[in-house]
Amino acid sequence: MAIERTFSIIKPDATRRNLTGAINAVFESNGLRIVAQKRLWMSVAQAKKFYEVHAARPFYNDLVEFMVSGPVVVQVLEGEGAVAKNRDLMGATNPANAAEGTIRKLFAESIEANSVHGSDSAENAAVEMAYFFAGTEIVG
Ligand code: UDP
Ligand code: MG
Repeated sequence: MAIERTFSIIKPDATRRNLTGAINAVFESNGLRIVAQKRLWMSVAQAKKFYEVHAARPFYNDLVEFMVSGPVVVQVLEGEGAVAKNRDLMGATNPANAAEGTIRKLFAESIEANSVHGSDSAENAAVEMAYFFAGTEIVG
C-alpha cells in the first residue's frame, strides 16, 4: 500500500466539546500524519458546495445547517493507505453502528453530529483538499 493523502474535517459537535486534540491523537497514534490543518467557520455556500453530492438527500439541509453551526478543523492526513485507514478509524456514519474504539463510537453524538468527515476515495480526497487548501499549505 502506498503513502496517500486524505481530507478530514473535525465537525462542529467535536470542536464545541473541545475534542480536536483527542481526535488528532487517534490519527497520530495510528500512523496518520497531519500535514495540513486549519480552523475555520464555513459559510452556508461553502458547506452546500462541499456536500453537493448529497443535495437530493432528505438530510441535506439539516446537514448544511449543522456544518455551519460552529467552527470546524479541516485537515490533510498522510500515511500508508490513508484514505481507507481514516475511514476505518472514523467508524460507521451512524455511531450506533460504529465499531469499538472508532472516533465515531468514542465521540459522535448522532448520525448527523458524528464528529468527523473523511474522504471516501483518493479521487474525492484530491478534490476535497483542493477546496480548502492551497498546495503550498500542505507540508509533508
Ligand atoms: N448524514 C445525516 N443523516 C444520514 C446520513 C448522513 O445527517 O442519514 C450526515 C452525516 O453527518 C454524514 C454526512 O451526512 O457524515 C455525509 O453522509 P455520508 O453518507 O457521506 O457519510 P460519511 O461518509 O460521513 O460516513
Ligand atoms: Mg461520505
